[in-house]
Amino acid sequence: MGGTFKTEAIVLRSIRFAEADRVLHLYTPDRGRMGAVAKGVRRVKSRLGGRLEPLSRVRLVLHEGRGELCTISQADSVHAHAALRERRESLERATQACEAVLRLLDSTEPNRPAYNLLCHELALLDASAAAAGRAQALAFRLKLLLAAGFAPELASCAACGETEHLGAFSPSAGGVVCAGCEAGSFPLGEEAHRFLVGALARPLAEAPQAPDVALAQADRAIAETAEYHAHVRLRRVS
Ligand SMILES: [Zn+2]
Repeated sequence: MGGTFKTEAIVLRSIRFAEADRVLHLYTPDRGRMGAVAKGVRRVKSRLGGRLEPLSRVRLVLHEGRGELCTISQADSVHAHAALRERRESLERATQACEAVLRLLDSTEPNRPAYNLLCHELALLDASAAAAGRAQALAFRLKLLLAAGFAPELASCAACGETEHLGAFSPSAGGVVCAGCEAGSFPLGEEAHRFLVGALARPLAEAPQAPDVALAQADRAIAETAEYHAHVRLRRVS
């Protein structure tokens, strides 16, 4: 234990601590979720402070002490995502994305796909106002579920394997279900089903579009899958 190390990170959350410090919740490519103290950053003259805002992608030098939290000794900006902070919708989506990562990926186990996905979503939200739509937010969540190991079964009935008449979704069964296995399910129309399949298959920037009714069903399928299998509550995506 002890010593200095470097890592890249996304700042998920920042909490006031002691007189002038902040505790940061970080998501890193090699160490998963991490907590760190940024000392003195609430002082006006702090050089670190501005670079460690939530939603920032940074390169850090940290010191590992005896306690649970590392101390940040140096921070350089990789991507500050300044443009998305100027747009309320983009900012809200970015905050939701970080919240979903906070809830779904709380271990110190590295998860490179999840890290890359979050970096990618924040960069897209920063680059274009159009990326703040509901469809992309849902596609991000679904891909995050996949990265976290909780992707729902979409190709055949999650209960019996039937490949036709898949008109419902069962969180407890873990995916779409057929007419004969509908217990504990809710309706999932063809468009919602197609949206989920397309969102998983396509790159994030090319998330498929779907009518509101279909997106609402997809939202429910994603949220209830997270709830049932990961024991995590996600706010609905409106
Ligand atoms: Zn079935």
